[in-house]
Amino acid sequence: MTKNFEAVIAGAGLIGGAIALELARAGVRVAVFDQGEPGREASWAGAGILSPAPESPATIPLVPLGKASMALYPELVARVEEISGQDVGFRAKGTLEGLFSRDAARELSTHVALHHGWGLTAEALSAQDARELEPALSPDVEAAVLRPDEASVDNRALTQAVLDAARKSGVQIFAHREAQGIWREKQHCAGLLLENEKVSAKWTIIAAGSFSSGIAGVNTYAPVRPAKGQMVCLRCERVKIERVLWSDKIYLVPRNDGRILAGATVEYAGFDKKVTAGALEKLLGSAIALAPDLAHASVEETWAGLRPDSPDHLPILGPADIDGLLIATGHFRSGILLAPITARLIREWVIEQRVSVDWERFSPLRFLEARKETTA
Ligand SMILES: Cc1cc2nc3c(=O)[nH]c(=O)nc-3n(C[C@H](O)[C@H](O)[C@H](O)COP(=O)(O)OP(=O)(O)OC[C@H]3O[C@@H](n4cnc5c(N)ncnc54)[C@H](O)[C@@H]3O)c2cc1C
Repeated sequence: MTKNFEAVIAGAGLIGGAIALELARAGVRVAVFDQGEPGREASWAGAGILSPAPESPATIPLVPLGKASMALYPELVARVEEISGQDVGFRAKGTLEGLFSRDAARELSTHVALHHGWGLTAEALSAQDARELEPALSPDVEAAVLRPDEASVDNRALTQAVLDAARKSGVQIFAHREAQGIWREKQHCAGLLLENEKVSAKWTIIAAGSFSSGIAGVNTYAPVRPAKGQMVCLRCERVKIERVLWSDKIYLVPRNDGRILAGATVEYAGFDKKVTAGALEKLLGSAIALAPDLAHASVEETWAGLRPDSPDHLPILGPADIDGLLIATGHFRSGILLAPITARLIREWVIEQRVSVDWERFSPLRFLEARKETTA
């Protein structure tokens, strides 16, 4: 049996869902196939921080893409909330990083200068000013950096709302239908191979997160592996947090309903999603060090998820070297932030075969080239 669409997407996470919605709104007939329940992997497990600031030197090349995506967020939220009728918990309140060390003053000027160099807004705050904004902060915080343009979103709510908006815009989403391979015919990708079924499409888009490399024919373009992150959800009447709070060990993300998420570990442990005592000890200890009254919080939930990490920790976006195959994965720690720009760029490529933001740096062909060089 063969189904036929203009575009077929493997993976109904936030990335696959956002692409599907964007394509459907441009008049493309789209289907999305998910191996499990749509929206229940990394896009469910994430913290939802929207910060274009790089977390390590490796991700500095991502700053322009992050900024472009951040700029699209209010529009995406408004559209998705309108079509789905669901609130996605977008909080455009900024983030605040507490510095503990005796060298806080020196660290502070370095932090602020680096951010300005990347074209990002950051303000130095004294400990007193920081605690006026966020009274929950520890008295041991000696200075802080405020990044007023950053935000957060309830990524679970957003993912479900995006998938719902996509369905309402005409996208067909199929749960428990695993893509086993790409349907390759010489230099052309004709669609996806499912169990006992082929799905034909002019465009085939791989957005299967950490699992993308397991789809036959995809590994050379998207050699991703899972980076496990463990999280804890807390609730505490006496702790009110407005902004996302960071230290060098933890982030705390407030939700509109009073929950506070604390995360996250980064572990390379295969596809294991166990929550461990050691990780909880570290997360809770660091959370309480940043906001001491959290010692009184109740623990509402713990979980782990798998971030799709690429060999250079940068996303994998764009056309492969076989006609009709596009890759959109490897978003690692920034997939919630990067969903709007990913969807926009894929839509531009499908409709116009050109993109408005240079994505060459993120090409799926970079791993093929690296492989050729090492075997030459
Ligand atoms: C603990 C944690 C904290 C995070 N915090 C943040 C944050 O604060 N900010 C941020 O921007 N990002 C954050 N991230 C990263 C972000 O969650 C991911 O980058 C993003 O969700 C990736 O989205 P995705 O749609 O590519 O993958 P996923 O959400 O994993 O979706 C992939 C989908 O593909 C399906 N699938 C897999 N294999 C197949 C197949 N063979 N056939 C069909 N379907 C398949 C899966 O079932 C799944 O539904 C965090 C991640 C974790 C785990």
